[in-house]
Amino acid sequence: MTRRWLVAQDKVLIAGGGIGGLATALALAQKNVPSLVLEKAARLGEIGAGIQLGPNAFHCFDRLGVGKTAREMAVYIDQLRLMDSMADGEICHIDLGETFRQRYGNPYAVVHRGDLHGVLLKACEAHPLVELRVHSEVTGYDQDESGVTAKLGNGEPVKGAALIGADGLWSNVRRQVVGDGKPRVSGHTTYRSVIPTDVMPEDLRWNAATLWAGPKCHIVHYPLSDWKVFNLVVTYHNDAPEPVAGKPVPVEEVHRGFTHVCERAQTIIRHGRHWHMWVLCDREPVDHWIDGRVALLGDAAHPMLQYMAQGACMAMEDAVCLADSLAKTDTLEAGLRTYRDRRVLRTARVQLMSRAMGDHVYHPAGPHAALRNAMMGAKSQADWYAALDWLYGGNGLD
Ligand SMILES: Cc1cc2nc3c(=O)[nH]c(=O)nc-3n(C[C@H](O)[C@H](O)[C@H](O)COP(=O)(O)OP(=O)(O)OC[C@H]3O[C@@H](n4cnc5c(N)ncnc54)[C@H](O)[C@@H]3O)c2cc1C
Repeated sequence: MTRRWLVAQDKVLIAGGGIGGLATALALAQKNVPSLVLEKAARLGEIGAGIQLGPNAFHCFDRLGVGKTAREMAVYIDQLRLMDSMADGEICHIDLGETFRQRYGNPYAVVHRGDLHGVLLKACEAHPLVELRVHSEVTGYDQDESGVTAKLGNGEPVKGAALIGADGLWSNVRRQVVGDGKPRVSGHTTYRSVIPTDVMPEDLRWNAATLWAGPKCHIVHYPLSDWKVFNLVVTYHNDAPEPVAGKPVPVEEVHRGFTHVCERAQTIIRHGRHWHMWVLCDREPVDHWIDGRVALLGDAAHPMLQYMAQGACMAMEDAVCLADSLAKTDTLEAGLRTYRDRRVLRTARVQLMSRAMGDHVYHPAGPHAALRNAMMGAKSQADWYAALDWLYGGNGLD
């Protein structure tokens, strides 16, 4: 690759060692570009249990060189199933079997976040071009023609050729690049738990990512970790005013948002243990991701609600596209601009559709819900696949 912008021992600095940051380090390493990951936490890891991965994530795993290990950790589900939590009946489903896999060249799967992060971390640790540092919060940056200096919380300056802000929803790098204030609080509160499989009601042990949609609330469950547990994520729209992340809460608080749904859906919640809550946030799409030698990536660039199950998938696509764009251009600035141009519309589409899914699929009531059921229930498998081609057929490079 042409790397006239990378001189001497310079590295690309990456703020944040989450899924996006580690994927970026690996993607750059695949193009022979060295990087230094600066993570603010005391250790590299992930909180929360499950995560869904569309075929587009598997396209990325292959480009990151971890396709085999990533495939080994996944549970391959048969369906995406939408249930009406008031009527206790299926509205529709999408088959994820052979026809789906053939069409997209890869499967749909669910994995434990820790396992996914672990696969990326192990590959980073094993790669001579990736360096990882913890206890290293990036608070801001300076730059000139020779490079960029990341400022750490302890006052230490760290010099590199470029800085990638993969520092998540509350990104310090974004504050300097975009300066658009705090994220938008959605008012939706999510509670996460896991249930041992033998405790999950037997008639609901489906090999599916199941969504029970209801007025101002929904429940998602799927099997995880080789079917040892079911991942449970339940959400209700309670106009929560302040962002919260990972606070432990009693089951009574969780149950409060679901007293109006059918008995079967309520039973699932009662089986949950050790609930933790998050108040969900996102942002309006912006295209100002670049400031000279600095670029945003993943949630720092395009934070979204989880209703398309695509935030981590988009972060990995960003990583692959960033490395590809830098490899194809002569100057760093041109490479970063190319990356931004290739990613902005696709990620904006997922951001906005995630919000719309919350309003029109996950949480409607009355005639709005009846319209959802009529429209979604009328779709054939061919209709679903045609509607999803733009998302699952892509790998972030198109
Ligand atoms: C309930 C829920 C369910 C979800 N389900 C799915 C799903 O099924 N599929 C999917 O694809 N996505 C899903 N997502 C979205 C996904 O979790 C995120 O989009 C993804 O984790 C973003 O990765 P990231 O690396 O950009 O940011 P993060 O995961 O937020 O990582 C940022 C990292 O940077 C570190 N950091 C923060 N600030 C600094 C700093 N200033 N300096 C240095 N380090 C810093 C943090 O400690 C962290 O390690 C879900 C999200 C939620 C909330």
